[in-house]
Amino acid sequence: METELFVGGKWVPASSGARFDVLDPATGGVIASVADGGVEDAIAAVDAASDALPAWAATAPRVRSEILRRAFELMTSRTDDLAKLMSQENGKALVDARGELTYAAEFFRWYAEEAVRADGTVTTAPSGANRIVVIRQPVGVSVLVTPWNFPAAMATRKIGPALAAGCTVVLKPARDTPLTALAIVEIMDEAGVPAGVVNAVPTLRSGPVVSAMLHDPRVRKLSFTGSTEVGQVLLREAADRVVNTSMELGGNAPFLVFADADLDAAVDGAMVAKMRNGGEACTAANRFYVEAPVAAEFSRRLAERMGALRVGPGVEPDTELGPLINAAAVDKVDSLVQSALGEGATAAVGGHRPARPGFFYQPTVLTGVPPTAAILREEIFGPVAPVVAFQTEDEAVRLANDTDFGLVSYIYTGDLARGLRVSEALEAGMVGLNRGLVSDPAAPFGGVKQSGLGREGGHHGLLDYLEPKYIAAQW
Ligand code: NAD
Repeated sequence: METELFVGGKWVPASSGARFDVLDPATGGVIASVADGGVEDAIAAVDAASDALPAWAATAPRVRSEILRRAFELMTSRTDDLAKLMSQENGKALVDARGELTYAAEFFRWYAEEAVRADGTVTTAPSGANRIVVIRQPVGVSVLVTPWNFPAAMATRKIGPALAAGCTVVLKPARDTPLTALAIVEIMDEAGVPAGVVNAVPTLRSGPVVSAMLHDPRVRKLSFTGSTEVGQVLLREAADRVVNTSMELGGNAPFLVFADADLDAAVDGAMVAKMRNGGEACTAANRFYVEAPVAAEFSRRLAERMGALRVGPGVEPDTELGPLINAAAVDKVDSLVQSALGEGATAAVGGHRPARPGFFYQPTVLTGVPPTAAILREEIFGPVAPVVAFQTEDEAVRLANDTDFGLVSYIYTGDLARGLRVSEALEAGMVGLNRGLVSDPAAPFGGVKQSGLGREGGHHGLLDYLEPKYIAAQW
């Protein structure tokens, strides 16, 4: 298990010698101590990334592609070990950890395929006087900041397209989950990534460390995944030097169920949309709006499924729901639930913390949630499903759009015309239509409104690391 910083192709301690503990959320115990990088280390990583940039940008796309392909193969062959490591530091059930690793590795495979497709265009100017030649060039040194909830996939979703485009990177993983990120960096090294192309600086001091990098003139891009709150701080920081930004921020996904939907499919989809990653996903269904005639039956079936989940330490093989990431997360989820109950909601199942050590929360379904409840406005980030009944399609769309967020929405309906009509009306970057899972390395993932800027995945994800250059050419 790697626990140092990775700078210029070498594992090195923090220049201050500082370290920090990584905890097991199922027990609260310490599992490792990791080098705590500081500003000086971050700038050393930028030095390395900057030195490596010209040669990497000039490396044949096929060579970059084959390195990414090797990283995909290595990661796939190590899924079991990586899943245990991730489950230990993040708490998620092994089944979720394996699912994430498959998804994460696919970004390397997809971007191995995209590395050879950074195409440009040549057109004739409307005047006929010249050609408009557009080529695409790597943006340059990119700082990648990732959250703890998907410690592998959020890293590969950035490293894959950045390397495919010819950029070099400094990864700043989340303080709760640096071990998975370092294991991925180790894989990149083994796959043949040249020294300095990928660097990693875990730190307890994210604010000053990221700020120092954003103010370094060699850094040209920030790709951030995390909360809207921190994203706003970083957008302001990036503004000082007009750094190119991609922002994957918070969500508050509505899940609409119309009376004409296949209710079994809707409950299956709800379990995926709500409970993938234990509810700790930006894509997690946060608000269930169900057409009145089927609301009681939908809630009953959902409560039955939620109540049957096996809760336990993520590393135990039959666990379906592990602990939340830390004590603060449990406090936040519980305070949202208690305030909804205080405002008149009813717990169809759950509604409290279980009596056991570790950062667990009981799978919960709340019915009769008043539309003004805080739980409908904030990202819950836990295993709690609030259900609200609606009367008309217009009301459902209005309720769904009544949020500052716009990452993903889900719709279940048996009427395809309605499904497409409502998909168009929803203010979201992504829609799951009769499907509780949208994430796919081949598709453009991202949000509108305060859920973000830019897209990751698909061909769009590659373009986020390329700058078009227009050459007005006369011949
Ligand atoms: P967070 O915003 O607290 O942290 C994200 C990252 O930013 C971490 O690496 C953290 O150490 C770092 N950070 C925190 N403060 C910083 C600062 N002042 N300057 C620089 N870096 C700083 O988010 P989190 O709690 O780790 O993750 C959960 C959030 O991420 C949720 O809001 C979730 O919706 C969002 N998320 C979004 C997506 C997406 O693709 N849209 C995917 C996963 C998670």
